[in-house]
Amino acid sequence: MVDDLLGNILERVVARNPGEPEFHQAITEVLHTLQPLLERRPEYLDQRIVERVCEPDRQVLFRVVWQDDAGRVQVNRGLRVQFNSALGPYKGGLRFHPSVNLGIIKFLGFEQTFKNALTGLGMGGGKGGSDFDPKGRSDAEVMRFCQAFMTELVRHIGPHTDVPAGDIGVGGREIGYLFGQYKRLTNAYDSGVLTGKGVGWGGALGRTEATGFGAVFFLSHLLASRKRTLDGLTATVSGSGNVATYAVAKLEELGARVVAVSDSSGSVHDPAGIDLALLRQVKEVERARISEYAARRSGSTFLRGARPWAIPCDVALPCATQNELDESDARSLIANGCIAVVEGANMPSTAGAIELLRQAGVAFGPAKAANAGGVATSGLEMQQNASRQQWTFDQTVGRLAEIMQRIHDTCETTADEFGRPGDLLLGANIAGFRQVADAMLAHGVV
Ligand code: GLU
Repeated sequence: MVDDLLGNILERVVARNPGEPEFHQAITEVLHTLQPLLERRPEYLDQRIVERVCEPDRQVLFRVVWQDDAGRVQVNRGLRVQFNSALGPYKGGLRFHPSVNLGIIKFLGFEQTFKNALTGLGMGGGKGGSDFDPKGRSDAEVMRFCQAFMTELVRHIGPHTDVPAGDIGVGGREIGYLFGQYKRLTNAYDSGVLTGKGVGWGGALGRTEATGFGAVFFLSHLLASRKRTLDGLTATVSGSGNVATYAVAKLEELGARVVAVSDSSGSVHDPAGIDLALLRQVKEVERARISEYAARRSGSTFLRGARPWAIPCDVALPCATQNELDESDARSLIANGCIAVVEGANMPSTAGAIELLRQAGVAFGPAKAANAGGVATSGLEMQQNASRQQWTFDQTVGRLAEIMQRIHDTCETTADEFGRPGDLLLGANIAGFRQVADAMLAHGVV
């Protein structure tokens, strides 16, 4: 009965949002896990909470016009989807990447809503971005783009309304330019309007490391429930941005050997273990391709165009982008004896891959729980801004560690509560949804 109702809701949501496969994928995954909750809480269906959380509060699309270094006029599209504000101001990153479209931003905003709920820090869900490609652009071009982007975004955001941050293609440099333009336009030093700021002007120490660290904290708890530790395990990590870099750092600190990282051009296999200093030099300082790492590191090889999942590992952390781990990748991981997959990126595993991992008994840390450390630390940055304080690195990372432990335990106990022990995907979806849904019920028909 509930199953049929959910099927009908899903059909209507898909029909209402044509041509948005990533959004369909994200809602399908969540709706498929809600049945046991809805059987116990029929008021969610009566009050149409499922339909309501699938429809963003507001979607803003705008033109961004700027001039490149040659004086040519460039036209991009800007987006901000304010998905759900039941638990707090909209909160979520901005992604600058040529693949960005409304369906991708909607999937990210939907995921963000439940992820933010799991942090327990009173944040709603939102996401934004642009099809602007920062790759190959000068600092001056990135600055002019950010200024043009903020010139429109300014009217939609605010410390109590919507608080953007970074995502793919948006890091400290971009947040700086965005903040500078916001300040110029509003004549207000609203530190709390953006997170991921520089540590000298309102940013939180530890925010840069937070998503990668958080994913590894989550992995440690997941292993601990299975009476294992990271010490001596072999890990593969995809990506080489912020999330991947600090996942590598924490994995190595906790005794694992990370034998792979990647970018969109291919993967590096480094059997001796990734040299973190070299990785940071190549990616953070030089903004170069990952092949440059292999060129400078003896004993490592560059696998052009390949993802890292065929390289044998005990634990795998997809930390690059959506749908980067598919069924054939899952088969390779299973065949090589991988015991855990923990998602550092948003929706990196396809539905088919997740099902294969489940059948094979591979422990799975779903993105909205495992990568919540980034936005959780944004929440801690907002706390520091509101109280005009700056905590030490250890204070912030200590709070992050507690939050990741709590998120893991919530997923685990919720899975137990609904008779599906070990199913952290179901646990994360139900725990996040329940919190948002209860707040929406309390707020009435709005
Ligand atoms: N983009 C990150 C995420 O996917 C962080 C968002 C934030 O800090 O607001 O959760």
